[in-house]
Formats: sequence, C-alpha cells, structure tokens
Amino acid sequence: MKVYINGKYYDENEAKVSVFDHGFMYGDGIFEGIRLYNKNVFKLQNHMDRLFRSAKAICLDLPWTKQEIMNAVCDACRTNNLTDAYIRLIISRGKGKLGLSPFTCSDPQLIIIADQIQLYAPELYENGLKAITVPTRRNSHAALPPMVKSLNYLNNILAKIEAQKLGYQECLLLNNEGYVAECSGDNVFIVFDGKLITPPVSCGSLGGMTREATIDCATKLGIEVVEKPLTRFDVWTADECFLTGTAAKLIPLVELDSRTIGNGKCGPVTKKLLQAFNEMAQKVGVRIDK
Ligand code: PMP
Repeated sequence: MKVYINGKYYDENEAKVSVFDHGFMYGDGIFEGIRLYNKNVFKLQNHMDRLFRSAKAICLDLPWTKQEIMNAVCDACRTNNLTDAYIRLIISRGKGKLGLSPFTCSDPQLIIIADQIQLYAPELYENGLKAITVPTRRNSHAALPPMVKSLNYLNNILAKIEAQKLGYQECLLLNNEGYVAECSGDNVFIVFDGKLITPPVSCGSLGGMTREATIDCATKLGIEVVEKPLTRFDVWTADECFLTGTAAKLIPLVELDSRTIGNGKCGPVTKKLLQAFNEMAQKVGVRIDK
C-alpha cells in the first residue's frame, strides 16, 4: 500500500510525519473517513465541505483547494488499484515549536491512506450489536464542538474503553444534559411507530455523511424522518435501532443497557434502509477512473 503525503507516495513503513507535528503532539488537526464503493468516492464533495468547515472551526488555513484535495483522493485510490476501500484523509497542523501555539506551525500535512476495512463481523449486520451507555459524556459544544472532526478523539476513546472493559463493542454517549448524542464513532437512529427518529446534531453528534445518506434514502422510501432529542428510554423502548457511520455503514443495535430493543433482531425498516443505502452507494459519488 502506498500512502500519500503532500503530493508524494511512500511505502507504508516509510510514511512518516515529524514528532514535532502538532497533530501528533496535541491532536491538532482534522480528518475525514471516506468510502470508495465500486470506484465511486462516496459523497466526496460533501466530505470536502465538512473538512473545510472543520478547518475553519480550528483556524487552520488550508493551502489546497477542495478540487486539489479531491483529485489527490482519487489519485490515491488509483495508485493503490482500489475498487472498494476506506479512505482516511488527515490534515495535521504541521511541524511547530514546543508549546501550544498553532501559529508556530507553517506546513500542514495532507495525508491520504486508502485501504480495506471491516469494522464489524459480517454476522453482526444480521444479528445486531449490543451496547452500553457509558459514564463519559460527549464533548460539549462549549468545549470541543462535536461537529469538528478533529484529530483529538480521546473523548470517544475513553467511552470505547469503558464499553470494551465491560465486554461491549460499542457504547452510547449522552450529552451533558443527559440526551443521546451518538455512539463512539457512529450516529444513532431509532424506528418508532414507523417513523425514523435521530437526534439533531445540536445534541452533540457529528453531522455524519452516512446519517445524511440514510435520511435521503428514508425520504425516498416514503418513511417519515424526525430529528428530535432522544433519551435512553426512547432507545430502550424503540421498535428498532441502528447506527450509521462511514466504516460501519448501517448496523442494527439490538440491545442497550441490558434492554432488548424491539424483537432483538435486525428490524424490517433497518433492512430496507440498508438495502437502499447499498444500492445508492454503488451509483453516486465521484468516479476515480474519469
Ligand atoms: N460520529 C463520530 C464521532 C464519528 O467519528 C463518525 C465517523 N466515524 C460518525 C459519527 C459518522 O459519520 P460518517 O457517517 O460521516 O462516517
């Protein structure tokens, strides 16, 4: 596998950044997780829009245009002969002096890793995941806004540790007010009374691309979509629940906090949406072979 760094390709073991890079020292940087489906880069333009919003929020001036970054993403996929892949696009603040000031950094690094990923075992897409609500609360908008896809994922990692130590692969994070924010790396949806319900991003989640695509699929299928704050009670008593993310796609959640959700299996609405999502993912996006 060849890793792209600032316009050049490096073998996996040679792909390096400086230990003085503030991305390494402080988690000072941003990233995107993107999918390549059947040689189409899924929602590439939308990923660029989110990336540039993240950059703006952390006052990181990008020396590349969106088009230049999109070209680099497609090039990295072609260089690695990929048809289906997970693309990790990272922009770090760059090398700087010791000390927090980002203004000592002048060379942001653009890194693109394009490779295969299988986040969850295939049978979990049929049988569903089990999760637990963890004590760690989602970052507050007043601290590190959850809409920024930053290189600092300790909030999510602490939550993941708490879940894994208890034997769960995934966890639910609440916001400071006690409402459902999201899972450690995925957005949350429930189905109740035939309606698809998800918390608004103001409750503390990332504006997920898969979330957006799922809402589009549901709308096309005539399923009513509602964005409203959810409590744990709403998830426990939902007919169905599933998580969305670029790496996970749509995966059913069949148990939360020892309460079985619905009938404890992947529900009919989740199945329909997963199928619609898979069909859409094959067709839309930016082709890498054009
Ligand atoms: N929330 C968090 C915290 C994430 O890291 C991600 C991406 N893994 C998501 C939600 C889902 O976003 P997307 O669908 O764009 O991958």
